[in-house]
Parts: sequence; C-alpha cells; structure tokens
Amino acid sequence: MLAILHPDTALDSEAYRQTMHFLENLPGVSVRVHEVQGAKQRLTEVYLLGDTKSLDKDEIEALPAVERAIRISDDYRILGRHKDDRRQSGFTYNGVTFDQSNLNIFAGLCAVDVPEHVEQMMQALEDNGQVCTRMGAYKPRTNPYSFQGHGKGCLPWVFEKAGKHGIKVIAMEITHESHIEEIDHCLEQLGRPTGVMVQVGTRNTQNFELLKAIGRQSTYPVLLKRGFGITLNESLNAAEYLASEGNANVIFCLRGMKTEAGQPHRNMVDFAHVPAVKRLTRMPVCVDPSHSVGSRERAPDGVLDVMHATAQGVIAGANMVLVDFHPKPEKALVDGPQALLMEELPAYLEDIQLCHDTWTKRQQIYNRLKESAKA
Ligand code: PEP
Ligand code: MN
Repeated sequence: MLAILHPDTALDSEAYRQTMHFLENLPGVSVRVHEVQGAKQRLTEVYLLGDTKSLDKDEIEALPAVERAIRISDDYRILGRHKDDRRQSGFTYNGVTFDQSNLNIFAGLCAVDVPEHVEQMMQALEDNGQVCTRMGAYKPRTNPYSFQGHGKGCLPWVFEKAGKHGIKVIAMEITHESHIEEIDHCLEQLGRPTGVMVQVGTRNTQNFELLKAIGRQSTYPVLLKRGFGITLNESLNAAEYLASEGNANVIFCLRGMKTEAGQPHRNMVDFAHVPAVKRLTRMPVCVDPSHSVGSRERAPDGVLDVMHATAQGVIAGANMVLVDFHPKPEKALVDGPQALLMEELPAYLEDIQLCHDTWTKRQQIYNRLKESAKA
C-alpha cells in the first residue's frame, strides 16, 4: 500500500506526526518514506511494506496527512504504474523536462576523443537547436587492451565546451561509483556550466551495488540501459533499485538484445517494448538505435537501418533518442562504423519530428475510436 500525503505537508506538523505514529505502529508493516520534488510542489509518499493485505484503504485515507492511498503490486513499487495510480511521470533536470509524452534527442559521440571532434559535434547541435548530447568518458570495453575512455581527464574541457554551446544535459556512462564524485567535483569547480545524466550501461544493469550507490544521490538523473541478455522484468527491477535508494529520476533505455537471431544487426531491435515499458512503469522511455543496429547499412529505399529503427521507436512513443554521431567516423576510437555523420543531423532531426508528430496523430485516431464506442 502507498499513502500519498497532502502536498507540502510539513514534516514537523501535528498531522504528519499523528499519521506517521499510526502507520509506524501497524503490526507486521514497515514504513518507508520517499520524497518527490515535482515542478510546483514537494510530495511525500509513504510506502507500507510487509503484511499489508488486511489494511483498510479507507482507514488510511482518513488519517490527517493522507490525501489518498493506492494498493500497489510487489513489482516496481516506486517506478511502476499501479491500478488507479495517477502519480506524475517524469521530472525536470537543469531546465529540461523528461516525461512519457515529450521527446529529447541525445546525439553525440560514443566516446570522447579529441577536443576538435567534441567542438564540431557541439557546434552542430547548437546550430540545430539541440540542448542535450551523449559523451562517453568512461567506456566499458570487451577487450582490456581497447581504448578505455579518457576518464576524468577530459571532463573539464568537455563540460566547458558544453556550457559554451548551450548544452544542458550530457548522457555519460559511469562504470564505478567513484565516477559520480569525479563528475560532481569537476562540475562544481567549473560553476556547473552544464548538467549530466548518469548512464548505466547494459553490462552493468544488474550491478546492484553500483545501482544502489547511484540511487543514493539525487543530484543527477539516471539513464538505465536494459540488460542485453535478461528479461524485461529483470531490467525494470534493476531500475527500481535506483528508486528504492531514493532516486526516482530514471529513464529506461531499450538498446537491443544480444542474440544470433538479431543478425545482420548488432542486436535484436526491441523497440516494440516502448509501449510495454510505458504501461508497466511511469518512466520515460529511451531508444538507442546505434547500439541496436550497430552499422551504417542502408535499405534499398535509401534510408539507413539506424534511421528506420529510430523511426520505429519514436512512432511508438519513445521519449528520448540516444544516438552516436561523429564528425570523422573513420577516426573514432569507439563504434565508428555505426556513427551518423554531421551532415545527416538536420534530416535525421526532421525525420524524428515527423515520427513524433505521427505518434500524436495515432493517439488521436485511437482515442476517437474509444470515444465513439462510449457514445
Ligand atoms: C554506449 O551507449 O556507449 C554503450 C556502451 O551502450 P550499451 O551499454 O547499451 O552497450
Ligand atoms: Mn558505443
């Protein structure tokens, strides 16, 4: 059971004290308080865990600080979408809103290499009205002798350039909890010219200690990639680890599944799960067509497979696109063969906008059908 308190209930008020006294003394029930900062107000959610079947919803709703109570299932307690659950989805970070209706594009370098390429990328983004990007500094590599990313050494100049070009959010994978501190320290020293969305890669989806460490901070939102060889339920539970530690500002990213059946693509594109994740949880959903498709193969219609896969995700309602670009893919240190080119950026953005508008129109068609069935 989840008890949602009246907005802005003061933690030192009599109503709060009485309510918590009642809840904390329920036999066999433990209480966990979760704070949610909405755009306009602060919400306190009280999770009642354990033996909650016999609890009377009306009785909980009658407590002085409780606005309403929701019966929640065991799965994805915080991030999930439960019956009669009207809680908000999404969040705003550094002036950019992420929710289940809108769309943000994170085009950028798979891995930071030289300042000139980062500069060219960010200039192109600024020229095309973009305020988000991806920049890998810590790279998880299959081969220990491959380039591992520049690590914290590149952070100062990457963040400075981002600030110069009006980039507000950089998706950046971390592979160890100490990287959060490195990012935070660098941003603080520079006066926070930009923001970071911490990315958990597919190889770390079930690195529970890393998830708990990231979940314990709420300065940075999190982009969690689906595990490449586990069920959707297992990956959604991994996202819940972040929320259970206190950080519910999580975006869930589909990036394809590792199976021979996916060939000739690098991974089996799984973007049909976009609506499934939105139905099961309140997380905004991201698609990563670059790591799903993994090449610049082109269909006879002249459109790259990466672009077709992007369209499939966005037309199904994806809320974020994470995509590899590079000014000189032949010089890229990681994943050059799948990178899109600077000159492809405007057309790609136009295609994505078309697909997002089409998703809106598709909803209208089916909502009309629902209305006429009611009449
Ligand atoms: C990446 O986005 O750079 C990456 C390594 O992706 P994934 O974890 O999905 O393989
Ligand atoms: Mn990559």
